[in-house]
Amino acid sequence: MTQTIGWIGVGSMGHRMSRHLVAAGHGLVVADAVSTERAPQGATVANSNAQVAALADTIILSLPDGNVSQAVAREIAAASPRKVKTVIDTSTIGLAAARGAAEILAAAGVEFVDAPVSGGTAGADKATLAIMLACPAETYERLKPLMSLMGKPFYVGPNPGQGQAVKLLNNFLSATALAATSEAIAFGVSQDIPMQTILDIVNASTGRNSATDDKFPRRIVHGRYDAGFTARLQLKDIKLYLESARAVGITEEVADTVVKVWSEMDQALPGADICEMYPYTRDGRRKA
Ligand code: NAD
Repeated sequence: MTQTIGWIGVGSMGHRMSRHLVAAGHGLVVADAVSTERAPQGATVANSNAQVAALADTIILSLPDGNVSQAVAREIAAASPRKVKTVIDTSTIGLAAARGAAEILAAAGVEFVDAPVSGGTAGADKATLAIMLACPAETYERLKPLMSLMGKPFYVGPNPGQGQAVKLLNNFLSATALAATSEAIAFGVSQDIPMQTILDIVNASTGRNSATDDKFPRRIVHGRYDAGFTARLQLKDIKLYLESARAVGITEEVADTVVKVWSEMDQALPGADICEMYPYTRDGRRKA
């Protein structure tokens, strides 16, 4: 059954993800604070977030951070008239902001679904994102067909913040793999071994990870450095991970180091793609 879906935030991820809803025949009402130029063809452009709340039962958010998600939740809660019943937040915002947004919306009788995604812009384009939903089980069953249009939905648990927890721990693992692999490959190459040879062997061995298996062969060996995800944005995620682990007393020595390594890289190369961690490491800039 098709319906009119609201979409707030048509940036790098949002415009790619929302396209699949239109392709499936859903109506789309879109708002963005900066530009709706990338809104999918056929979408109706609203003049405010409140107008989206007046026109759609379900709204999907793709926003930069937790402060923005909570501010938008306040605008939705205050909208009058208001049709919206469910807000699904696909942004990476951290546990506290997800709980905050859920509280703001619950006070207005609107259900909040914590639903961060993984897979990057390529996954958004191909509708192969991992979508981590935290919400009541019945809500998950109801939303599954809609979310399946953008990737593979996973049920995490009933509480807002649980989706964020999995997203953040995943990004911590992925950032750790890329930083550690950059060191290891720089060492191997320094021993006059071709990078491709090292990757072939590691990928058939126990050191295989998301950097050796995906980022190095596809985006680093040929010097493209084009994951489409900046070190700055990744840093937001791993800092949130570190804060969250600290808050519950989980050991975070590795996370502490990984955050430091990525912070230094981001400061040295502002705006850099995450894949530039390899040349940055190889050229010894970490020690500069
Ligand atoms: P982006 O900055 O490209 O897009 C965010 C959009 O939100 C922008 O178009 C911006 O104008 C809009 N916006 C900001 N404030 C707003 C407001 N108050 N009202 C309406 N619109 C507003 O970011 P992105 O790369 O598309 O990422 C979106 C979210 O997805 C982030 O939380 C990010 O961490 C997460 N994410 C990104 C990737 C990736 O590869 N880019 C991968 C997984 C998850």
